[in-house]
Amino acid sequence: MLDLASKELKFIPGVGPARAEWLKKELKLLNQEDLLYFFPYKYIDRTRFQAISELTADASYVQLKGQFLSFETLGVGRSKRIKALFTDGTGSLELVWFKGLKYVEDKYKLGQVYVVFGKPSVYGHQLSIAHPDIETPAEQTGQPKAGLQPFYTTTEKMKAHYLNSKAMHTIIVNLIRSLQDRVPETLPAYLLQQYKLMPLHEALVQIHIPSNQQLLKQARYRLTFEELFYLQLHILRYAKERERKYRGYPFQRVGDLFNTFYHTCLPFELTGAQKRVLREIRNDVGKERQMNRLLQGDVGSGKTLVALMTMLMAVDNGFQASIMAPTEILANQHYDTIKAFLGDLPVKVGLLTGSTKAKDRVRLHEGLRDGSIHLLIGTHALIEETVQFHNLGLVVIDEQHRFGVEQRSRLWRKNDMPPHVLVMTATPIPRTLAMTVYGDLDVSVIDELPPGRKPIKTIHRFDNKRAPVYTFMREQLQAGRQIYVVYPLIQESEKMDYKNLEDGYQHILEAFPGVPVGMVHGKLKAAEKDAQMQAFLSGQTRILVATTVIEVGVNVPNASVMMIESAERFGLSQLHQLRGRVGRGADQSYCILVTSYKLSEDSRRRIEIMCGTNDGFEIAEADLKLRGPGDLEGTQQSGIPFDLKIANLARDQQLTEFVRNIARDILKADSALDQPDNLLLKAQLRKRFAHEVNWGVIS
Ligand code: ADP
Ligand code: MG
Repeated sequence: MLDLASKELKFIPGVGPARAEWLKKELKLLNQEDLLYFFPYKYIDRTRFQAISELTADASYVQLKGQFLSFETLGVGRSKRIKALFTDGTGSLELVWFKGLKYVEDKYKLGQVYVVFGKPSVYGHQLSIAHPDIETPAEQTGQPKAGLQPFYTTTEKMKAHYLNSKAMHTIIVNLIRSLQDRVPETLPAYLLQQYKLMPLHEALVQIHIPSNQQLLKQARYRLTFEELFYLQLHILRYAKERERKYRGYPFQRVGDLFNTFYHTCLPFELTGAQKRVLREIRNDVGKERQMNRLLQGDVGSGKTLVALMTMLMAVDNGFQASIMAPTEILANQHYDTIKAFLGDLPVKVGLLTGSTKAKDRVRLHEGLRDGSIHLLIGTHALIEETVQFHNLGLVVIDEQHRFGVEQRSRLWRKNDMPPHVLVMTATPIPRTLAMTVYGDLDVSVIDELPPGRKPIKTIHRFDNKRAPVYTFMREQLQAGRQIYVVYPLIQESEKMDYKNLEDGYQHILEAFPGVPVGMVHGKLKAAEKDAQMQAFLSGQTRILVATTVIEVGVNVPNASVMMIESAERFGLSQLHQLRGRVGRGADQSYCILVTSYKLSEDSRRRIEIMCGTNDGFEIAEADLKLRGPGDLEGTQQSGIPFDLKIANLARDQQLTEFVRNIARDILKADSALDQPDNLLLKAQLRKRFAHEVNWGVIS
């Protein structure tokens, strides 16, 4: 049987050792199988022509048909270039050459029809294409019949060595032509038949050398099906294992603490969603299976309270419980909130963070070991080996994406049986993605905000129109409110960003004379950061200039305005998280997104979405569509192989659910995949997921 995984790239005609090395270094393609599974990221239909009048600055490759209006040679020496004006009757654009000027002068004539192919960009106010591909209509008949030209991802380094998209295509065609045998099938015949899937060999040929749109579509479907199907089969298989393996502590009683709290301590009625989620949790922890539940709820939806009441269930049943927050500020805040909520209830609460003093620490450790401390609130500090519990029954993890898999798994080693785990996140993950990332991890959703909240008003302003924004901010300050001013800080441009932040701070000082202004960013020492936050919390400072360090969870109800600078540089979910810092009090809150005048289509979409909705789930769905799941916060550490080769979890939601059901049925009938028909499935799973952590056991 043909085994392409064991065949080296350098033996493909047109590759050789040097190119094989580039393919390995730049694209991580190690063998012929890898190359065959390196799919085009798009196809350009070269049978169609676009109209110049309809082109936008974001257009990808376009094909135009028309004539030259003029040629102009500009500059001297190295900046010498040819600029031509090209029209198709609907409009005109510039074509520019910096090299090969002589060739251009000789070859292209006025008054003749050409086909122009390239990627437009904006120069000044004019669309232009640099170094376009140009052919006469006669030359164009040399294109593949389908007219579908595949495009492959390559890197700058590869292009510098003549390994561009075209070269990649040629190499892959050479590989396909040199195959001695059919590529062995990876799906059992019964699946191919039942779901009318194209055999693997044909699908691989069609995906690289499409005969027509129809066959290309079938090929894509088959390959997407395969990829998603194996992913789901893998996830479901581990989920099943987890179910079998991990027994948990049953919390059988709904006891005094929970009831007393509910009836006498709660200052307000729970929302319907909070009640429902608490029922779901109670149902889980009452069984003898370990709970592994993800609690999603938009910022401000009241997750902390649900966490507290779940912890009370643990204490009622004689267990300790713990809540872990991603930052010290948040841990402190949880501690204060929870202490206030509990009032006189006989529950002993401890706080453990990086700045807990040594002598307090000793006492805490003791109390945790002998069980006299019931609830522990803390940061990473609480997963250190030295922290031991008497009987930890429940762990709540707040804002889960800040914790790595390794950190989470350490919690599991604190007991004989793993504690129940409740992971809380305000970054809503769309359903399909949750299903894929967490397998059968149970998901609860708080999809309702406490009553009386005024939706935050979000508006977009260009950065050259600042004066009215400042006037508005002054009014808000006069009315007693506080304000966040947020700057982007991105690793790649850190130095510049810090400078912008500093400049911005100075600028705010000048624009708001007499107003106390604070500043926080990641470079401050923890104590300094805390002091700054504390000053803002207590109202001592009225404006806080900050980076995204304020993104997570901080609660300053009096802060009702947030101005986000260079908002176009933030991702959607980040903007949403940031915005969640306002709208926490009784006053109308505002979020002002300030951007530069020029925006890419994607940025414009993001800003539009933010101005149009406050619903985190809607935003998450939109984000998934715009960015693809690999970039979504909360997914990076999931362990999922997000470099899906062809499937797209946003686009292929339906197919994901479809194949998930197929996988489930197969496992129901043959959980070990030992039937002859299914041996291929088992072998494929082993091959595809051999190098992965068993993330199915980690919350
Ligand atoms: P998040 O889900 O962002 O963690 P919090 O738990 O911090 O939200 O809750 C935000 C605010 O709403 C808190 O001040 C909390 O006391 C309040 N809150 C929570 N539940 C309710 C409710 N059912 N009715 C009124 N206010 C509530
Ligand atoms: Mg919270």
